[in-house]
Amino acid sequence: MTKPQGIAVLGATGSVGCSTLDVIARHPERYRVVALSGHRQLDKLFEQASRFRPDYLVVADADAAAQLALRLEQAGLPGEVLHGPQALEEIVRLPEVDAVMAAIVGAAGLPSALAAAGAGKRILLANKESLVVAGRLFMDAVRRSGAGLLPVDSEHSAIFQSLPADYAGQPALAGIRKIILTASGGPFRGKSAAELLDVTPADACRHPNWSMGRKISVDSASLMNKGLEVIEAHWLFGVPPEQIEVVVHPQSVIHSMVQYRDGSVIAQLGSPDMRTPIACALAWPERIDAGVEPLDFFSLSSLSFEKPDLANFPCLRLAFDALAMGGDAPAVLNAANEVAVDAFLNGRLRFVDIPKVVSETLSGVDLAASASLDALLARDEDARRFARGRVAAC
Ligand code: NAD
Ligand code: MG
Repeated sequence: MTKPQGIAVLGATGSVGCSTLDVIARHPERYRVVALSGHRQLDKLFEQASRFRPDYLVVADADAAAQLALRLEQAGLPGEVLHGPQALEEIVRLPEVDAVMAAIVGAAGLPSALAAAGAGKRILLANKESLVVAGRLFMDAVRRSGAGLLPVDSEHSAIFQSLPADYAGQPALAGIRKIILTASGGPFRGKSAAELLDVTPADACRHPNWSMGRKISVDSASLMNKGLEVIEAHWLFGVPPEQIEVVVHPQSVIHSMVQYRDGSVIAQLGSPDMRTPIACALAWPERIDAGVEPLDFFSLSSLSFEKPDLANFPCLRLAFDALAMGGDAPAVLNAANEVAVDAFLNGRLRFVDIPKVVSETLSGVDLAASASLDALLARDEDARRFARGRVAAC
């Protein structure tokens, strides 16, 4: 029997992290959890540590680390507790870590995902913000080290599965006409501008098909999530923006498609359950049980398709604009969006002002391309400062 693969799950306590552990628990002979990170969610992390007995745990700061270490000791559980962003980078580089699930939310997930890329690990990438902020640096690091990069975002997993097996990032050679990203349209699909004026964070987090963390739920409601995914697809598959199209498909059964020059369209279908793309990334090119209900075609009433409503949901257009502007524009877009979404979730900004803050920040911050990670993180900080000012002015 072959040795189980060592896995580090970053963002283990989140929505994707929990689904990852659910899949891993079904295959103890294939996977061993080496490390888990959970920032400030200590109760959940403790519960996961009792179940999976990792060698390392990573939390936000020294206080949280001391608390968790004490609880583990009292319960007679193993596991060394580390803390801070640097510790996340250290654990992904451990020789016993074969694969890293990058499932931290936001640009906070970038340095550790980049460290995994630099160390040549197999990266299971849920943290789309890494590619939005640092697409070029990230893909260069992957190429240099020979790391494996497997998309976990359901649309990108669908595209990955619909591309030719030997796809080398050259759409023209592969005969590709378009990458078609499907979007559910989110909880506010069909709402008018007037109806959007007083929506609340609870409304935004009530997604019709997927159960997700709060930040990505708001992004789905504003269509910024689809915008971030357009940028993610551009970097992952080497496809120019004009060959990426967004189609609203409210049932979320088709998870995305590749349209070829000869008229063929290859799509990936399934129930809207993140355990499918997670299992696909974990086991690729093999297929393993993910605990997902098989798709029942007889209970699907219909599959429908619409154009996205860019007038009421301008975030998608802003993301296409940022990709066309190039340089640091996508990083600035992402930083402003993180600030605006956080303000919305905390009752300091209206939903309709999220695109306003993003657009003003794109106009107010220098967008010239940063050449290093440090320069990029400084730009991210500039954009956040500017966006906070715009939030205060709204
Ligand atoms: P979540 O909010 O449920 O979980 C986020 C995780 O990150 C938690 O473990 C949290 O403790 C950790 N975290 C938060 N802030 C941190 C920080 N500053 N430093 C270190 N760790 C921190 O989020 P989620 O819905 O699981 O999404 C995670 C990532 O996966 C996001 O990038 C999201 O866009 C992407 N994604 C999620 C889904 C989904 O269905 N939830 C689907 C596709 C892609
Ligand atoms: Mg997605």
